[in-house]
Amino acid sequence: MAIYPYKTEPIFDYSLPENQKKYQEALLKEREKFGKQIPLIINGKRVKTDNLLTSVNPANHREIIGEVHQAGISEAETAMEAALETFKTWSKVPSQVRADILFKAAAIYRRRRFELNALETLEAGKPWVEADADVAEGIDFLEYYGRQILELEKIDERIISRRNLERNEYRYIPLGVGAIITPWNFPLAILTGMTCAAIVSGNTVLLKPSSNTSVIAYRFLEIMEEAGLPAGVINLIPGKGSEIGDYIVNHPKTRFISFTGSKAVGVEIYEKAAKVQKGQIWLKRVIAEMGGKDAILVDEGIDTEFVASEIVKSAFGFSGQKCSACSRAIIHEKVYDEVLEKIVLKTNSLTLGDPSNPDNFMGPVIDQKAFDRISNYLQIGMEEGRLVAGGLVDSKTGYFISPTVFADVPQDAKIMQEEIFGPVLAITKVKSFEEGLGVANNSEYGLTGSVISNNRFHLERAREDFQVGNLYLNRKCTGAIVGYQPFGGFNMSGTDSKAGGPDYLILHMQGKSISESF
Ligand code: NAP
Repeated sequence: MAIYPYKTEPIFDYSLPENQKKYQEALLKEREKFGKQIPLIINGKRVKTDNLLTSVNPANHREIIGEVHQAGISEAETAMEAALETFKTWSKVPSQVRADILFKAAAIYRRRRFELNALETLEAGKPWVEADADVAEGIDFLEYYGRQILELEKIDERIISRRNLERNEYRYIPLGVGAIITPWNFPLAILTGMTCAAIVSGNTVLLKPSSNTSVIAYRFLEIMEEAGLPAGVINLIPGKGSEIGDYIVNHPKTRFISFTGSKAVGVEIYEKAAKVQKGQIWLKRVIAEMGGKDAILVDEGIDTEFVASEIVKSAFGFSGQKCSACSRAIIHEKVYDEVLEKIVLKTNSLTLGDPSNPDNFMGPVIDQKAFDRISNYLQIGMEEGRLVAGGLVDSKTGYFISPTVFADVPQDAKIMQEEIFGPVLAITKVKSFEEGLGVANNSEYGLTGSVISNNRFHLERAREDFQVGNLYLNRKCTGAIVGYQPFGGFNMSGTDSKAGGPDYLILHMQGKSISESF
């Protein structure tokens, strides 16, 4: 069967009144579902516990999106048993059949796109366009990984057999049960990508979503079931990271861990996974995608209007809560004042408020913990730099922090080094491109980075020496597209696993070489 080539999913045009209407209707429908109880799903069965966690709308914490049943150790253990049992059959299902489930899920995402967009806005605080981009990226992952598994079948064609002597084969086979631990900031896209890469490769999984966005995780699994996924392949166990996250990482039967989240948790998981537990007969594989401290480096002789706009979009889209968000702008002294002035003007014109209102460019930050952490960094910024925009916080109704810019920040300042994960931009001045590249690389992270320059030699220098997993030239540093810009970082940004790229599925598999003598 021929499958049309992969193409990225187009984003909705929200300037069209019919799309606006459908989105508003979806918001109303989602609101009608507010407050419902959300069970675990283990081996296809809905499981309730006596421990509930309330998932709230970050733009209005009085609104309860759902009451999510929390898995404890015993539910995590039952889920492990289900995943181990299901692995015996799922790992033998032909790749084509597994791929078809992903393709069907993509079709359902498309049909239910407004509903998913609305839920993203309500549970994760995503403005319309950001919500739609997340759902579209989820579709991309399904379409891309479905095709990738079929491509991997062809690997055998590259292995040579010696006629009359032997037949050689090379296959990728699944690993076993994986622990999938996901973040809240791309609650559908990243969760879909991480989980579906693992299962389309023939593994079964325990899915531990972020506590902030577990209702979206439940909706995801409902769609996978509708697409024909057998029970027990994905076992959904929302619960506390420090409790059941920890349990499934340490479990001797866990074969691999796929994690996306902060550096602190990623490092902890990496260390724990390295310890061989009693009864464990393999070395666990860890796929870890972690934080960033992403920089845009601005050369002299550039279009200052364009630069300011790319920096502001990269810094404040989804309130800076993207691992790829620009949190450092490193600007050549010859254009510094002009670019800074334009950044301030543009930042001050951004609208902040409830993201279900399309007039608001920026919504809230995710929760009280994030609100407190970012507020604390604002205080640090006041000491380390010059506040030129924003700096205001308000958590009366939702967790709102205004887009904030600090200028004249020294390169070793905390706000230039630590991931804040909120709408805070630090700007520093450099005397030359060379110095700027040094400042850009002065970070333990290495996720995304941009260079804006008209100097061909400077662009080529950056290609070689800017130490990031995703480098962008003459554009913003956010918005990687599945299949077009494989995504993942160097150093403390993770294991450079390159989600949405041709090498990603192999991380969930192992190669088996078979040679038969004739
Ligand atoms: P987080 O606090 O590290 O949490 C990520 C996941 O880990 C959640 O499901 C969390 O569960 C779980 N967890 C927490 N403690 C755990 C433990 N001890 N053992 C096992 N699991 C544990 O990160 P986040 O706030 O959700 O996400 C934001 C971070 O993710 C930022 O640093 C951002 O840069 C990074 N990120 C990176 C990428 C990338 O591709 N590199 C993409 C997106 C986000 P609970 O929710 O229950 O705590």
